[in-house]
Amino acid sequence: MSRSFDAIIVGAGQAGPPLAGRLTAAGMTVALIERKLVGGTCVNAGCTPTKTLVASARAAHVVRRAAEFGIDTAPPQVDMGRVRARMRRVVEDSRAGLEASLGGMEGLKLVRGQARFTAPDAVEVGGETLTAPRIFLNVGARPSRPDMPGIDEVPHLTSTTILGLDRVPRHLVVVGGSYIGLEFAQMYRRFGAEVTVVERAPALIPREEPEVSVAIRGILEAEGIAVRTGADCIALSSGPDGVCVHVNCAEGAPEVHGTDVLLAVGRTPNTDDLGLDAAGLAADTRGFVPVNERLETAVPGIWALGDCNGRGAFTHTSWNDHEIVAANLLDGGDRKVSDRVPGYALYIDPPLGRAGLTETQARAGGHRLRTASRPMTRVSRAVEKGETQGLMKVVVDAETGAILGAAILGPGGDEAVHGILDMMTAGVPAEGLARAVPIHPTVSELLPTLIRELN
Ligand SMILES: Cc1cc2nc3c(=O)[nH]c(=O)nc-3n(C[C@H](O)[C@H](O)[C@H](O)COP(=O)(O)OP(=O)(O)OC[C@H]3O[C@@H](n4cnc5c(N)ncnc54)[C@H](O)[C@@H]3O)c2cc1C
Repeated sequence: MSRSFDAIIVGAGQAGPPLAGRLTAAGMTVALIERKLVGGTCVNAGCTPTKTLVASARAAHVVRRAAEFGIDTAPPQVDMGRVRARMRRVVEDSRAGLEASLGGMEGLKLVRGQARFTAPDAVEVGGETLTAPRIFLNVGARPSRPDMPGIDEVPHLTSTTILGLDRVPRHLVVVGGSYIGLEFAQMYRRFGAEVTVVERAPALIPREEPEVSVAIRGILEAEGIAVRTGADCIALSSGPDGVCVHVNCAEGAPEVHGTDVLLAVGRTPNTDDLGLDAAGLAADTRGFVPVNERLETAVPGIWALGDCNGRGAFTHTSWNDHEIVAANLLDGGDRKVSDRVPGYALYIDPPLGRAGLTETQARAGGHRLRTASRPMTRVSRAVEKGETQGLMKVVVDAETGAILGAAILGPGGDEAVHGILDMMTAGVPAEGLARAVPIHPTVSELLPTLIRELN
């Protein structure tokens, strides 16, 4: 059996459903193929569940600190059953909202199953062939399974399976000190686990500003999380408590014993079972589908959006990919992936908000720079809230005055950084920000001050 559509979208993650909305609104018939859950990683196993858990973990943390604010309480009791029930409710509501919105799209056929190319304009799903002159890949990624000695012998958790855990591990060893690993590390520490983070690089989130990385380590260590960086030879085996992670760090014991291990060492694109060769496509060495600035693949009529194209690894970049493709196809636009200012947040508490380049990246780009930074101890809102860990930093091109990047690690850093992100997107130079009249007392109010203090 075979059916024809104007467009096929493979994957109902963060780009597929809104693109389906744009295409059907333009009068096209669209098949949206999903093999698992509508909403993809973000809704079901990423942003939504983790930020819900981060909120529960913060509640426990605030209760523990209550006496500092003059409030007496009993120590918090964490009930993981209720914590997870809350998480599931939020996830299910979000997914149901998306399903309802897809149900309301005239011209859309939601097809459940695994899609695989049989030709450049055809995919096979559950024994049926679907054809279309336009095919959009939004297949996302999954937790990487590293080629690590012992991985087959020791049970381990991934960022997906840990969401199903109904207990707090006695000692969780997190392998991987980047944003996914660190969010789980702090969250489980706050739920009551002993936690050790093991990272191969010499620093946590090594691509960040060194001072930001150091401050993040300080925040985690202050909560009792052990951090082992420079773990150049990570291997797993069974240990007396359950699991043993061999680290080979220059300092400290060569192994870490824990009851459970979470592997958070990157994500692998879901492109290996797509039959790309039948479409005349080949993934790159890391599994990404190569695309140009307009997110077109090497085969006319096939686009790749979201995590599978290697041009972004976030919900907002996947969403932006659909905007680029829709604008170019339907609005006569000429939007490019390089138009977007990169930004992301690390949702430890306090969070890190990042916009644009770090100082190191900007220097590597040949810019002559002016920079300024300020610790949160000199931000009155942070002092008033009793959350003075972290700092803010801005990097500006000395010749043009263009803002090149900023980091805000501190209360509301994920929100406050938009003051910079939006200025950068609008192309407003640093001088424009210096004239703003920010609201007092906020973390953002120090951004104009930071610009005036540039060295
Ligand atoms: C623990 C964790 C926390 C995160 N937190 C954040 C955060 O706070 N903020 C943020 O911006 N990002 C976060 N992310 C990243 C974010 O979830 C992803 O960047 C985002 O979901 C990517 O969206 P996507 O549309 O590219 O792919 P996905 O959301 O992964 O969707 C791809 C879909 O395609 C389907 N699929 C794959 N192959 C096929 C096939 N052959 N046939 C049919 N269907 C197929 C999959 O089942 C899936 O539903 C987090 C990720 C994780 C793992």
